[in-house]
Amino acid sequence: METIALVGKPNVGKSSLFNRISRQRDAITSDVSGTTRDVKKAEVFINNKKALLVDTGGLDDRDEMFKEVQKKSLQAASEADIILYMVDGKMLPDDEDKRIFYELQKLGKKIALVVNKIDNDKHEEEIGWEYSSFGAKNLFFISVSHNRNTRKLINWIDANLEEEEVLDLHEDEELSFEEFLSIDEKLEEEESNNQIKIGIIGRVNVGKSSLLNALLGEDRSVVSSIAGTTIDPIDEAIVRDDKIYTFVDTAGIRKRGKIEGIEKFALNRTQKQLENADIALLVLDASEEFKELDERIANLVEKFELGVVIVLNKWDKALYSYEESVRRVRDRFKFLSFAPIITISALTKKRVHKLYEVIDRVYANYTRRIPTSKLNELIRFANQKHHLPSDMGKLVKIYFATQFDIKPPRFALIMNRPKALHFSYKRYLMNQIRSQYDFEGSPLILEPKKKKADEDFDEK
Ligand code: GDP
Repeated sequence: METIALVGKPNVGKSSLFNRISRQRDAITSDVSGTTRDVKKAEVFINNKKALLVDTGGLDDRDEMFKEVQKKSLQAASEADIILYMVDGKMLPDDEDKRIFYELQKLGKKIALVVNKIDNDKHEEEIGWEYSSFGAKNLFFISVSHNRNTRKLINWIDANLEEEEVLDLHEDEELSFEEFLSIDEKLEEEESNNQIKIGIIGRVNVGKSSLLNALLGEDRSVVSSIAGTTIDPIDEAIVRDDKIYTFVDTAGIRKRGKIEGIEKFALNRTQKQLENADIALLVLDASEEFKELDERIANLVEKFELGVVIVLNKWDKALYSYEESVRRVRDRFKFLSFAPIITISALTKKRVHKLYEVIDRVYANYTRRIPTSKLNELIRFANQKHHLPSDMGKLVKIYFATQFDIKPPRFALIMNRPKALHFSYKRYLMNQIRSQYDFEGSPLILEPKKKKADEDFDEK
């Protein structure tokens, strides 16, 4: 099997490219180890050929430690069959890059200069000739995050790999069923870590479709098929900074000839969207009063236990001041008090880009885990401040607590009398958790469970 080495300074996008290649459809990722500073390896398929992809870590000689990494990295390159030398196309060529590139060229291997972060043709024109000064025979202008020209690069690698070991994963008998499953799980886990599923919901005419367009922006071209991911034809997706944002069931949002006023229809469709989402963008129209249907749609977010961002759209013609608008949202949607509110205009695109940051933050909170020891400390402390009310004279006790799930975070409270936990005390505990950890935008689920000799956890 031949080896492909990724070489370059830190932050040029090596690990994004590494992930993109190793996550293509039918690529098996195995033996991925080490931190980004270390050499990272994966067996991948380049089209049909199996190869070993090596991310050599950063070329950075600021101090002793980095020097060591650089040495390792150049050594890895010298052992490879194909070298991809990566630079940051947002910057002008740098002399040190040139020096190292020429060193590597002397090794007589197949080598390409890969200029990353070239997001569009204009940028390529502007910066292209600067990089032609390297005199590289094989020069690629790509953007991993915009999925631009990466296919071209992969095809070049393919053409330079030896013709052997054509493998069909599904006929590979050496892979046991268990192994196959574990690979699947691994991929799924990785995918869930960087694939955020988003439902854009709200009444007709609040601006959902305009918002979707604004969010997808100029990058509409990348939305349809992203290699190695499972995106339904009714969904649209975009890659940003190596994260995949999938907007679920956009077919419904895009449908023209909207049927106004049929609540059941609106609610059913929203329900379907939310079944497949992690995060809901609840779109409200700031240019008019909120309606009962807004509330009923918001209720669904609660029902599906999703992360949520309240999007006040049409801010360019808002009815009220910011303070007053927020007050009205908080008053009307009390059960979403943990949700961040963002004011935007899908029409003028004002602050639409900010929404991605808010989504990232909420997703981080939605997947947050609190260590058991910290959680118990917190609960004990809360208990001392406010004792648990007794249950008709009988003592109510929480023995311990543990978080057993994410998306959303779920906590079990192991108690002697779980049924006696009053909802106001539950709310108090949730507020305590929120005051110590950032769970903005994420619901928290507390489940009182009974402690018994036979651990019958199901009894509530
Ligand atoms: P949807 O039914 O929720 O998908 O709503 P649309 O995206 O089709 O928008 C409904 C109408 O509101 C269209 O005429 C849009 O141009 C308009 N609209 C959407 N967003 C804004 C905004 O931020 N400001 C203003 N002034 N109009 C908007």
